[in-house]
Amino acid sequence: MEEDLLRLKEEAVAALAASGKDELEPFRVKYLGRKGLFTSVMRQLGQASAEDRPRLGKLANDIKQELELSFAARLEELGGGKTGGGPRLDLTLPGRTEPCGRPHPVTQVMEEVCGIFEGLGFTVAEGPDVETDFYNFEALNIPPHHPARDMHDTFYVSDALLLRTHTSPMQIRAMTEQQPPLRMIAPGKVYRCDSDITHTPMFHQVEGFLVDRKVSFADLKGVLSVFIAKMFHHDTAIRFRPSFFPFTEPSAEVDIGCVICGGKGCRVCKQTGWLEILGAGMIDPAVFAKVGYDSEQYSGFAFGLGIERIAMLKYGITDIRLYYENDLRFLSQF
Ligand SMILES: [Zn+2]
Repeated sequence: MEEDLLRLKEEAVAALAASGKDELEPFRVKYLGRKGLFTSVMRQLGQASAEDRPRLGKLANDIKQELELSFAARLEELGGGKTGGGPRLDLTLPGRTEPCGRPHPVTQVMEEVCGIFEGLGFTVAEGPDVETDFYNFEALNIPPHHPARDMHDTFYVSDALLLRTHTSPMQIRAMTEQQPPLRMIAPGKVYRCDSDITHTPMFHQVEGFLVDRKVSFADLKGVLSVFIAKMFHHDTAIRFRPSFFPFTEPSAEVDIGCVICGGKGCRVCKQTGWLEILGAGMIDPAVFAKVGYDSEQYSGFAFGLGIERIAMLKYGITDIRLYYENDLRFLSQF
């Protein structure tokens, strides 16, 4: 019985290998059909002894299954399958997945920056991209013909209207509407007529300020230290350099230890080991006077930072223009 099965298998395998397209159906009838050779051998199983029967039954089933698979494969190979001679269909291949979108790196960093300041109790305010000269310049202690206006390379819409050059106008809008204490950040797009490897005509800024009684430069330093530690690394070095902004007094530029070379000096930090990251200072009493706050009672600090710059340092991006070329090979890395 066992020999019959094995002999039959051998014979069938040889016959299958030798059969052409037209011989396949006769092969199926002869070996695998209901009245085929295989079925008749299976019928003899009943005559086998009770102890042999399970083993023989399994052997017979295995051989039959194997033959059926070989037959199906041969059928497809010869182009006789139901798919009709087309390319082989491999159902085990993984499907094509739809590419998944993600937030732009500038958006990601913007959300991260806002998240850190919100964690410190700052509220988020947004305002118009088109501003009046008053909010963008005059109320921020930059009167007409002030030399600081030259630094801003402004896009004017008309004599009195312009595309905001910073998000600081939100500081004025908030202070003219609310009384202290105030803790607020203003994220958004700003515009300057400037374009090169580190400047684009439109970029993103987060400007923040805090006004209350007895606010000191130490508070400013504390808030910015927490921000930088969370944004970069908890032991990132920080230094404040004296600087000038019309709306703060005293003013400072804030540097962090170069995140690329760790302070040893490299091309990005121009061998200094430091990277300029934001501007800050104590709000100038002249600004308080414009919004009607009593600078004898209140003091405050303000700071502003460029999102693109932070993202460039965080991710080691060397050309700011990459953000706006919409190249998916670049964008999908974040
Ligand atoms: Zn460096």
